[in-house]
Amino acid sequence: MTVAAVARRSPAAAAGLTPGDRIVAVNGHPLRDAIDFQFHAGDERLELTVEREGAARSTRLRRRGPGLGLELAPPRPSDIATCANKCVFCFIHQLPKGMRRSLYVKDDDFRLSFLHGNYITLSDLDEASFERIIEQRLSPLYISVHATDPELRHALLGRPRHSAEILPRLERLAKAGIRMHAQIVLCPDLNDGAHLARTVHELAPLYPHVSTTAIVPVGLTRHRERLPALRSLAPDEAQALVTTAEGWQRRWLAELGSRFVFLADEIYLLAGLPLPPGASYEGFPIAEDGIGLVRRFEDGFQRSVARRQKRRARPDAITVVTGELFAPRLSGLLVHAGYAADTIRVAAVPNDFFGPAIGVAGLLTGRDIQRHLARQPEVGRRVLVPAVAVRDADGIFLDDVTPADLARDLGVPVTVVQPTPGALLRAIRDS
Ligand code: SF4
Repeated sequence: MTVAAVARRSPAAAAGLTPGDRIVAVNGHPLRDAIDFQFHAGDERLELTVEREGAARSTRLRRRGPGLGLELAPPRPSDIATCANKCVFCFIHQLPKGMRRSLYVKDDDFRLSFLHGNYITLSDLDEASFERIIEQRLSPLYISVHATDPELRHALLGRPRHSAEILPRLERLAKAGIRMHAQIVLCPDLNDGAHLARTVHELAPLYPHVSTTAIVPVGLTRHRERLPALRSLAPDEAQALVTTAEGWQRRWLAELGSRFVFLADEIYLLAGLPLPPGASYEGFPIAEDGIGLVRRFEDGFQRSVARRQKRRARPDAITVVTGELFAPRLSGLLVHAGYAADTIRVAAVPNDFFGPAIGVAGLLTGRDIQRHLARQPEVGRRVLVPAVAVRDADGIFLDDVTPADLARDLGVPVTVVQPTPGALLRAIRDS
């Protein structure tokens, strides 16, 4: 594991570690990856074997709290386990050619599932990996289920070489005490209706080991060339799904003590229905999958506004960028908070790059934002763009445009804003 950064006055700094060092063993245990490091580095006294400029040395380190002040470099794309599936809805297959290479990595790596909440299919998981998950108690894991009917799942995954049967794999992990979050990418006419009912009813007996099941709508871009025909969820289907899911939730709340099945925010927005209250999300365990993010943001926004009411001065005119799905709700929140719509303008940017079926802020490109704002009569003194549209590690939009490029083209400063109510209100106040 390569050291990426060392905090000042931390145990790692005291042990003489510097960025670029390679930690090859902890207390005599060789390291395969960051999980091995976490697994073996829990003791108070650690002996690290470190390589620097080709020479190995030993260093002792004593923890004084939970952190060591050490940041490890992320895995290189070549170290990530990738899938051999060809899922009919795979978003990566729907990317246009010529984007940066890292976007085409089809990761299906249990280590990234444990560390970062990436969803995996388990279809290529070998025996050694199963044993490692169980031995190191890598829990929770995030599992792409899609359907429990073996033949249907096999078809959805693009007919991989091996059987893709999921229930025996989930049962094995459940028996070993591994907690899992299941996901279903809902494709109308393929795994909806009776198939969906079968899937959730076959997963529910695995509760609490399978602790949640997220239903998210398939996302279709305009670049679906030579791929199976699919269609997006229609608003009336989204409404019917909300009614069905509410029935399941009532039943499982009574039987299991949890709603167990949760619908993506996108489904409520598409249906034009109110989002469930915050308590219905049972602590928001899968918010990163788009389950409850909008509710959490809206509730947090109301609280932040109430706290800041007295200190709020009239801000300069600015533009807040978001996707078409969330824009009406964000406008409503700002107006309700007392910001005039002509002062804080919400730009609902259409997604020309991926196509009209993609309405979320996280998939906006720099050029779409630039094109849309250039057509507006005025953008004000500053433009706020959502951080979810900018890749964390490299600070660029999906199409390699940077916020600085955008600022130069628009002629006003551009601020990247984290997706929290406090960050948005601060950015508005400071504009
Ligand atoms: S598992 Fe399916 S959706 Fe995920 S990367 Fe592989 S082909 Fe794409």
